[in-house]
Amino acid sequence: MLYLPTIARKTLNGVLNSILPCSCVLCYTQQAQLLCRHCTDTYFSYKVVRCVQCALPMPQGAETLRCGDCLQNPPAFDHSIVVCDYAAPQDQMVLVLKFGHQLALAGLFAEMLRDAVLKNASDSLPQLLCAVPLGQSRLRERGFNQATEIARPLSRHLGIPFEVQALHRTRETSQQSSLTPDARVKNVKNAFILNETCLYKVKGAHIAIVDDVMTTGMTLHEIATMLKRFGAAKVTNYVFARTPPHFY
Ligand SMILES: [Zn+2]
Ligand SMILES: [Zn+2]
Repeated sequence: MLYLPTIARKTLNGVLNSILPCSCVLCYTQQAQLLCRHCTDTYFSYKVVRCVQCALPMPQGAETLRCGDCLQNPPAFDHSIVVCDYAAPQDQMVLVLKFGHQLALAGLFAEMLRDAVLKNASDSLPQLLCAVPLGQSRLRERGFNQATEIARPLSRHLGIPFEVQALHRTRETSQQSSLTPDARVKNVKNAFILNETCLYKVKGAHIAIVDDVMTTGMTLHEIATMLKRFGAAKVTNYVFARTPPHFY
């Protein structure tokens, strides 16, 4: 595969976008937006009651804000806000961003996350945004971190600072989706560290962690555990898509 540095790829995408007509990422209808009105209405206007902590769909008529798993075995993060399920056809949008290098989609995800955050009445706004970091080799291979690309415009939309270098991976980890539940726990255990320049910003603060997809939530749990060890008062996840439980 032809490797291009991020800046060259962004320039190339910009040139291609100015030559080629824009089409909807889901139905390919030619029009001005990345996602047409019909697909927005069809795939993003459904109402789902979700657990406030892990964002999994709750059964109809549930009387608690948290699901049974979060009540019995609470994760280290306090809230999760998502835009949609990681299921067809919305999952295509994530794949096109990550593997088709359509960085403009990160801006669309940020706009949709902004709307979900501002609509959510159960959580206050955080003081700082962080992005789930990629390992060095995956970052080199892909040329960009999709979580960073979503967090940057989201920071502007919400008027909340984004610390691009706040979180680091201490080692390379395997792709969580390829592992069994037990192996996932071991895979990310102690895999993240906070940049020491951010210590004072995290202590006592409400931090939001941005990512594209939340599968089991183990990576976000591990990051929240680490942030709370450094004194974070509260951790919220801002994630575009949440994998429904029967998919993992
Ligand atoms: Zn469409
Ligand atoms: Zn839950």
